[in-house]
Amino acid sequence: MNRPLHADAARLRAQLLELAGNLWWSWGIDGAAIFHALDPERFEASGHDPHAVIAGLDDARLVARVDAHGLAPALDEAVAKLRAYVAGDGTWGRMHAGRLHHAPIAYFSAEFGLHESLPIYSGGLGVLAGDHLKSASDRGLPLIGIGLLYREGYFRQTLDREGWQEQSYPTIDPSAKGLRRVVDRAGEPLLVTVETQTGAIHAAVWEQAVGRVRLLLLDSHVEQNAEADRGLTHRLYGGDEQMRIRQELLLGVGGLRALGALGIRPGVLHLNEGHSAFAALEAVATHVEREGLRLDDAVQEVASRTLFTTHTPVPAGHDRFHEDLLVEHLLPIATRLGLDARGLMAFGRVHPDSDDETFCMTVLALKLAHRVNGVSYLHGRVSREMWKRLWPERPVHQVPIGHVTNGVHLPTFCAPRMEHLLDATLEPGWRQAQSEPSTWAPMLEVSDAALWEVRRGLKRDLVHHVRALAIAQARRRGEDVAVQRALEEALDEDALLIGFARRFATYKRASLVLEDLDVLDALVNDPKHPMRFVFAGKAHPKDEGGKRLLQTVFRASRDPRFLGKVVLLEGYDLSLGRALTRGVDVWLNNPRRPLEASGTSGQKAVLNGALNCSILDGWWEEGFDGANGFAIGAGEVHRDAAIQDQRDQEDLVRVLREEVAPLYYARDASGTPTPWLHRVKRAMATLAWRFVADRMVRDYAISGYLPAGGVQLSDAR
Ligand SMILES: *Cc1c(COP(=O)(O)O)cnc(C)c1O
Repeated sequence: MNRPLHADAARLRAQLLELAGNLWWSWGIDGAAIFHALDPERFEASGHDPHAVIAGLDDARLVARVDAHGLAPALDEAVAKLRAYVAGDGTWGRMHAGRLHHAPIAYFSAEFGLHESLPIYSGGLGVLAGDHLKSASDRGLPLIGIGLLYREGYFRQTLDREGWQEQSYPTIDPSAKGLRRVVDRAGEPLLVTVETQTGAIHAAVWEQAVGRVRLLLLDSHVEQNAEADRGLTHRLYGGDEQMRIRQELLLGVGGLRALGALGIRPGVLHLNEGHSAFAALEAVATHVEREGLRLDDAVQEVASRTLFTTHTPVPAGHDRFHEDLLVEHLLPIATRLGLDARGLMAFGRVHPDSDDETFCMTVLALKLAHRVNGVSYLHGRVSREMWKRLWPERPVHQVPIGHVTNGVHLPTFCAPRMEHLLDATLEPGWRQAQSEPSTWAPMLEVSDAALWEVRRGLKRDLVHHVRALAIAQARRRGEDVAVQRALEEALDEDALLIGFARRFATYKRASLVLEDLDVLDALVNDPKHPMRFVFAGKAHPKDEGGKRLLQTVFRASRDPRFLGKVVLLEGYDLSLGRALTRGVDVWLNNPRRPLEASGTSGQKAVLNGALNCSILDGWWEEGFDGANGFAIGAGEVHRDAAIQDQRDQEDLVRVLREEVAPLYYARDASGTPTPWLHRVKRAMATLAWRFVADRMVRDYAISGYLPAGGVQLSDAR
């Protein structure tokens, strides 16, 4: 039959672009299967970028690939589903968010980890922000995200033959990624401008659709900028103090102005970490000008509508600026407020009169937000202690910092294999009720055989994936053929598999289990209870300590005792994070307590039936109940970090040898690890509902967004 090829191709291309244009493709349907089928090589090589796949297919090949895979009906269905989703009638948000639909929540974050194809995140903070947008979208909350477009993103990691980290910075072309340049109300490309004392900074604004949520990303790479400022937003966490304050000025002040230019007046501001706190100062200035309020009243007004989430108990993690830099960049706003340099500095100082105190973004945010939270119960407590000097008249337990524990976006991180089991086990409609404890109770009764089958499948997928990656990386490094050979057999589907992947910040102590290689040898090569380890993670380019940790792990992975048994993979990102948390048996986390504010990777493991083995820090301190995973230590902290490290290492080894391995290898006649699966079921039943982002976003909505936005709480659950 003679078919009009070009008409077909144009229609298919339009459908694919519509799908690719909304990141919903990555969680609402199995979009990866569609784009992978169209061009597997390109999909993989581009870091799972659907736009690269579409751009790489001419009309004839596009039609041929769709025909060959019979994809046309799937595409029709996917597009119809996307449209129905975006229309979003009947969502929780529609029912409960009231006037916020006309005055949305503006959610500011310096990084967003939404998908590996858009590398504008470095770690947990970004992934959390990405999950926040996705869950807000699923719930139908009227929220709009504001961030920066890093054209060189966070770096791409490789390791040299010595295991030393090298960074490279591939450039991102936003149009090629399907981002849309935002236009103003007159239809012209929007350009936001922020004045400083030494000239103005300009930024274009790009938009990425995240389900029902819009994400606006500011981009300084415009010709209106002086040469030096064009590169301002090129890299995430790349520059010096000067670059940092200019990025943060754009994010906060420029971000709020971008909303204004689009006619959006946010009803609530949510500052995800202190980087964006200038937004609240800009909001104060706007109130003073527009409504003629007194400064104090404008501050109260803005603070009553602002939420601030603080994320780190590590002192160096709080941005601080020297007075000259602050004045250079913020005096234009201060002047609108009738403030001089000293009055401006006071907003970022614990003691307004102490001239030697630098300007702290966290302090600014604490002063301009009435609703402040840490990201776990323990972190809330630590934060109250940390900032109590701002409320000298109060006892520490009355310092107004609460907590909303982090969670992860279930559709992003739960493997399809596990989702099928959940569909077969939980009540219909369980996704809408995923943050109710009763929803997960049926997991306690699921059959051992079915659960074990899923777990084995997930581990098999991972082992194959790890081998392919490890071999390719060794080959690129030019390592011996013998090494490559050994990696072909890396890991072992039948051996207990332990995963560790996160940023290689030193407090996370990636090499703790490798402290004593003889002890590790005994664990890994135990004849009855063998163990395998897989590691991944990036060190910040300037963090020599973190790079040394990577090298320590790399060297262990090339020790003949551990070759193919302890594996380190390059390029930790969302894709690898998903794969690892799906396929390992045990997710290991051993930070130096209490420095892990929450941690979220272990929550991803829960959704896939892996067990956590962790220091009682962050979310695990409140999640662990004695029988839904494993605890290292009992939550002690020692003044001397070296002593704490040694005790934790000893207990980690003890737990692996005496608790984890025996439980994993206790099998019934059919080879099923019944007691292990019992613990997995308990983990899923007791943890999944609490540590999903859906619960987190509901908590933010009920305890923050709705009251801050002046919405009555009518039976909102
Ligand atoms: C989930 C995730 C994180 C956060 O992991 P933590 O254990 O909380 O540090 C960081 N990076 C990536 C790529 C992730 O997917």
